[in-house]
Amino acid sequence: MNLKIKGFQKTSLIDYPGKVCSVVFLAGCNFRCPFCQNPDIVIGYDKLKDISPEKIFDYIQKKRKWIDGVCITGGEPTIYPGLPAFMQKIKKRGFFVKLDTNGSNPRMLDYLFRNCLVDYVSMDIKAPLENYHIVAATKVKTHDIQKSIDLIMKSGLEYEFRTTVVPEFFSMKDALTIGKWLNRTKKYALQQFRPTITLDKSYQNKKPYSEKELLEFKKIMKPFFTFVEIRT
Ligand code: SF4
Repeated sequence: MNLKIKGFQKTSLIDYPGKVCSVVFLAGCNFRCPFCQNPDIVIGYDKLKDISPEKIFDYIQKKRKWIDGVCITGGEPTIYPGLPAFMQKIKKRGFFVKLDTNGSNPRMLDYLFRNCLVDYVSMDIKAPLENYHIVAATKVKTHDIQKSIDLIMKSGLEYEFRTTVVPEFFSMKDALTIGKWLNRTKKYALQQFRPTITLDKSYQNKKPYSEKELLEFKKIMKPFFTFVEIRT
């Protein structure tokens, strides 16, 4: 199967809203967000052992009484052409599939949606479109980001958009711009930045926003979404 699995969390109560899931980490990413909390999976994965898909299928099959679904995260899972086949094998066993993505591959999303291979999509919104290249620290095709958003909104699937709020990259003005941009979407999550493990180590010295500031962001964004959540 054409994908690199470098992490497997057997059970999670927080990675698939409303469900108990296992979490699969696919290695590698086409972005380089300096505050990324998964540097081992994004750039250091050669040192990690490969995990075979069969091991995951066996585990979820054995624990099917307790596990509702599988969250596929990364890195960026959509960089792998083998993703649809992997998802299909999970779906065939009767599990829900959630995908975490940075939204850079709308062609893959379109394929997954058309073939009913995913049940829930969680897409990162890094910043207002014009700042994407700064936050992702690489060239970003912003029309692909917009296309992914449009596909997700039209998909009829459960979904959420989410932003890790790093003070350097996210201001009150950005909150308003993102709110207006994604206006009338269902769910938006503001994720607290945790300066513990980061791709760029200098980000471990950066101070996150206070709870009060996060609540201010929520207040700004509330009129634009059905539901706004703060994740700390
Ligand atoms: S935060 Fe997400 S998109 Fe950014 S480098 Fe890490 S895995 Fe990739």
